[in-house]
Parts: sequence; structure tokens; C-alpha cells
Amino acid sequence: MSTDKKNIIIVGGSYGGISSAHHILKHTVPQLPDKTTYQVILVSPSTEVVNRPACPRALISDDMFPQDKLFVSIPKSFSQYPSENFLFLHGTATNLDHTNRQITISLATNETNTLTYHALILATGASTPSPLLGLTKDTTFLRQSWTALRQALPHTKTILIAGGGPAGVETAGELSEHLNGRSSSPSTAKVRITLVTSGPRLLPQLRPSLAARAQSLLSKLGVTVLTNTRVVSIDPPAAGAADTHLTVPTTVTLDDGRTITADLYIPATGTTPNTGFLDASLLNADDKRVETNPSTLRVDRTGARVYAIGDCSTYARPAVHNIVAAVPVLGANVRRDLLIACGKDESTVGGDKIFKEDMREGQLVPIGKSKGVGALMGYKIPGFVVWLMKGRDYWMWMVGGIWSGKQWA
Ligand SMILES: Cc1cc2nc3c(=O)[nH]c(=O)nc-3n(C[C@H](O)[C@H](O)[C@H](O)COP(=O)(O)OP(=O)(O)OC[C@H]3O[C@@H](n4cnc5c(N)ncnc54)[C@H](O)[C@@H]3O)c2cc1C
Repeated sequence: MSTDKKNIIIVGGSYGGISSAHHILKHTVPQLPDKTTYQVILVSPSTEVVNRPACPRALISDDMFPQDKLFVSIPKSFSQYPSENFLFLHGTATNLDHTNRQITISLATNETNTLTYHALILATGASTPSPLLGLTKDTTFLRQSWTALRQALPHTKTILIAGGGPAGVETAGELSEHLNGRSSSPSTAKVRITLVTSGPRLLPQLRPSLAARAQSLLSKLGVTVLTNTRVVSIDPPAAGAADTHLTVPTTVTLDDGRTITADLYIPATGTTPNTGFLDASLLNADDKRVETNPSTLRVDRTGARVYAIGDCSTYARPAVHNIVAAVPVLGANVRRDLLIACGKDESTVGGDKIFKEDMREGQLVPIGKSKGVGALMGYKIPGFVVWLMKGRDYWMWMVGGIWSGKQWA
């Protein structure tokens, strides 16, 4: 497939990609001369998006959330725009030739398509080792993984979860409340759940008193927390990650030499950026995220009109609220660069819009359906506010506007 339009290609159909596409279609394309010559192309291996933060609860049962709000069709969300300006491509970016400004897409139909871009936005996010906690492939695969877990749960007596960040803490809390009830303890729990973290405490982004409170709330749901404990090996090595090994009995060796055998192993140990299709010269050597100008969101190493946002980028810490704050900056700078590219004088289009990450303590962590810990804008907030904002429905009240574009009106 070829196109004679000026392609604004957005790779990745989640918080970063969908938000950027809506913003550009609403606020950039209509302001360009010859607007019919521009086409926003959104590339995603999944035709649906999922409200990812809801995964720790959603994985338990379809009854946890209205499924039509948890999973939302991407093409439907963009049917509001003129078809001459928008194209959804169901596929995966497999190679970026940033010198010749071409990107190769492997389509779901098994065809391969190489497109030239006028502007490019990288929003391919990051994957968790466990397929239970996000779109490692598409929503069909995510649902299959949840089904496998749900079939295994009735026969499960022991669960080991690795990772003391919000994903591990929330998953431990949700599973333990579901399996052991709201009032339990590690010694009486029907299903023994152990959460292991290599750090000295849980939730390193929050103050120590909130981490201690989280550990105490988990204990009251029956979860044993092991801090300063690193998983050094797992047997079988693919346990908890690959399709066929998702629910196998696993023996975990810890750095103090102890071994724990569990019926289920869930690795919630951070994420890996989905940047394998990019040249290594574009990536941060340490964490393989796209080296991005944190003020302008441009990828300065690639040549003109290339940007990155979200968990694949070094622009900020990985979080939805950072993406929401960055989208208007990205949109304004894309608009500015496109106007200059079509001949407008720099002095008439204004300067760059600048992004600045809010570095204050800010994270909300539900622990079961009624409790939680958190801080916002540097202030500790009460558990019931954590429940109200997040624990009640895991942001379902808020994400609909991101998917539909209302948030960016
Ligand atoms: C369990 C869990 C709970 C969380 N809770 C919160 C929370 O409460 N608050 C908060 O702010 N943040 C939370 N986060 C973090 C938040 O989910 C991420 O910051 C957010 O999802 C990042 O969005 P993104 O668009 O950058 O990428 P992702 O959501 O990772 O999505 C990337 C998309 O790109 C696609 N993709 C990947 N590779 C390619 C390719 N080569 N070509 C095309 N498409 C590709 C993927 O299929 C996916 O659809 C949580 C994360 C997890 C795992």
C-alpha cells in the first residue's frame, strides 16, 4: 500500500498514541494549509485498547468491570474524523529507517508495508514480563491469558509475585482479597500469597510511612511480604511469562539461597520498552527507551519532525498522568514544525511549547477493593480518597474521555 499524502505516522495505540492522534486531528490538521493532503496513520497490533491500570483487578473475572468500558475499539473512536485525514493500520512496526524517513509495518493480514513519513510519533510503550498486565500482543491474547489464570485459580494454593512496585502490590492485594477475603493474615490465609521485592521496602516512589502502611494492609489481606529479597532464578525459566508456562508450578530461588515453590508465579518486575524496531543509536544505553528531548518531546537524533511520548520514551517517568500532561506540548510542537515545513516563517508560528515533569511525590495504590495508599502533588492522601479516585474503578471514570478524544476537545 502506498499513499501520496503527507503521513503523520503514530506508532502504538494506547495512552500516548491514541491521545496524540486525537490531539493532532483536532488541533493541528485543521490549522494546516491544504489540510486534505495530511493523513494521520495510527499503527497498533491490537484493534482495541485496554485500560491498563485496571489489569490487576480485571484479570480475576469479567464481572469486575463493564467489559465494553475496559476494552474499547480504536477504529470506532476515530470514526468521527474525515476518512481523508485518518487511517488505522492493524499491524506492528518492525523497522524504522530514520535516515530515509521510512517505517516498515507488518500488517495483521501478513502483508508488509513500508511507508514514508512526514512526521512520526513513537508511542509503543513498554511490556511487562507477565502477559496478564498489559498488551504484550493484542486484547485477544490478553483475554486468553486471563482465562488461563482464572482456570488455574480454583486449584491454586500458593502464589508468588515478584516486584514491589504498584503492579506487584496491586496484583497481590486484589488476588488475596478475592481468594482469602477482606480479613485474613499470612498464617491463616487459604491461599498463601508471597510478594517478593529486592528493595528495602515496597513502593519506592512513595515515602517510607506509606510503604509501611501498604505492607500492613497487604498483611491484613493475607499476603506475606519479603523485602530485601531478590529472585535469582526461576524454574522453569519461562514461568509466568510465556503462553504455555503462564500457570505452571514454579520453583523460585532467592538471593539468600532459599527456594520457594508456588503453584503460580507472577513476574511484576518492571517493564521493557517496546523499542526493538529502532536503531540502537536512538536509544538510551541503560534502559533502551527512546532518547527524547524532555522539554520539546522531539527525538533530536532522528532528523526533523520525530517525537516520542509515553513509556517507550525517556521524556519522563512512566505514568498515564505524565502522558496526559505531555500531549498538549507534543501537539503544539508538531503543529509548529508542520507549519514551518510548509513554508511559514518561524517568527509567525511562535516558540516551542515546553514540557516539565511534575517531580512531586504522586502515586495512588489501591490495596483490595476498599483500601489503599497514595500521595498527590507531594501530599499524602487518605485511603478513602485513593479508593474514590482509583480503587473504586481503576480510573474507568476517566479513561473513556481519553479513548473518545473528549479529553482533547
Ligand atoms: C499493572 C499496571 C498498573 C498501572 N497503573 C497506573 C496508574 O494507576 N496510574 C498511572 O499513571 N500509570 C499506571 N501504570 C502505567 C501506565 O499503564 C503506563 O504509563 C501507560 O500504559 C503507558 O502508555 P503508553 O501509551 O506509553 O504505552 P502502553 O500502554 O505500554 O501501550 C503501548 C502500545 O503500543 C503497542 N506496540 C508495541 N510495540 C509496537 C510496535 N512495534 N508497533 C506498533 N505498536 C506497538 C502495544 O501493543 C500497546 O498497545 C500502570 C502500569 C501497569 C503495568
